[in-house]
Amino acid sequence: MPVQTDAYAVKTAGTPLAPFSFERRDPVGDDVAIDIQFCGVCHSDLHTAYDEWGRTTFPCVPGHEIVGKVTAIGPDVTKFAVGDTVGVGCMVDSCGTCPSCDAGEEQYCEGSGFVGTYNSKDAKHGGHTLGGYSTHIVVKQDFVLAIGHDDADLAAVAPLLCAGITTYSPLRHWKVGPGSKVGIVGLGGLGHMGVKIAHAMGAEVYVFSTSPSKREDAKRLGATDLIVSGDDAEMQAHAGSFDFILNTVAAPHDLDRFLNLLKRDGTMTLVGVPAEPHPSPAVGNLIFRRRAIAGSLIGGIAETQEMLDFCKEHGITADIETIPMDAINEAYDRMLRSDVKYRFVIDMASLKAA
Ligand code: NAP
Ligand code: ZN
Repeated sequence: MPVQTDAYAVKTAGTPLAPFSFERRDPVGDDVAIDIQFCGVCHSDLHTAYDEWGRTTFPCVPGHEIVGKVTAIGPDVTKFAVGDTVGVGCMVDSCGTCPSCDAGEEQYCEGSGFVGTYNSKDAKHGGHTLGGYSTHIVVKQDFVLAIGHDDADLAAVAPLLCAGITTYSPLRHWKVGPGSKVGIVGLGGLGHMGVKIAHAMGAEVYVFSTSPSKREDAKRLGATDLIVSGDDAEMQAHAGSFDFILNTVAAPHDLDRFLNLLKRDGTMTLVGVPAEPHPSPAVGNLIFRRRAIAGSLIGGIAETQEMLDFCKEHGITADIETIPMDAINEAYDRMLRSDVKYRFVIDMASLKAA
């Protein structure tokens, strides 16, 4: 029997998030049913809820940093059992047969494209997917992650499912490690995970921020220092010195300021997805030092598991502020003001109680 699920949704464009309920399917085949304990609040949730990317289907239930307990499994499930602590990130399915899926890079699925945890067409089950601002979810086992952290840390583990993997994957891909000088642009949800993970990988890390008040936090998280991105003197002191810069900023800005700080053959990888484009960077800044601008999308399922295990081994979780479900609209307002240290996480018990 399909299960009635309580949630928060944007029901029609331009309205705030509000209580909503719908049915989740019963677990069949290789499905895992999960009671959601915590769900992180990603800036992508806000972009989608506010239809800033122009492709939101309503009603929209955001949320793709999900942790909880397995409550039921389909008959073909082999990897999980009832009671396991598990996570779900940004994807719940992909074609499984294209070269990217074969390579374990399901996020770049060239077949039908990956099925997002929310706001994706769900060809298999009908309608569109509804995410983790809800009491439970049903996901096929290949897109469910095993969580090894202690239960006491679960709320702070939730953001690893998106912010963690979105920073871990490019840091690994561009071979960050001991001897690398790495810059992280924007100390928000993604940025603060990027600092912790790059530091744990052995890199020398600097934060570029518009918020000088975050300097002590940046150092506590593992950065050598915070560079105020609007301060010419602070920026110039690092000209031509970075191997890799990970740019997490969710708004259009001047990329040249950061490109100038890369060494020869250095790369700046963009993971932030502003609603409006960045001003075009100057080609000269690229060609004279063979610098590159790249992009990166979350990470594959196997790499997400690797990241979770890496974080467990290195004692890494997110710095969070836990909120009740009904505080979500205020949390979005604060996220827009860069006023979050450093990730909001919804305690789903608040929704179950209400
Ligand atoms: P967030 O928590 O809001 O952090 C963004 C940070 O960017 C802010 O804390 C702020 O840091 C800085 N910032 C904000 N406005 C700025 C502006 N106008 N100019 C310069 N800096 C500004 O957001 P998030 O959850 O980390 O997400 C960041 C972006 O990544 C979003 O666009 C999101 O959609 C995208 N994203 C992409 C992927 C992917 O796979 N590529 C995955 C998840 C999210 P300071 O105060 O330090 O300046
Ligand atoms: Zn996200």
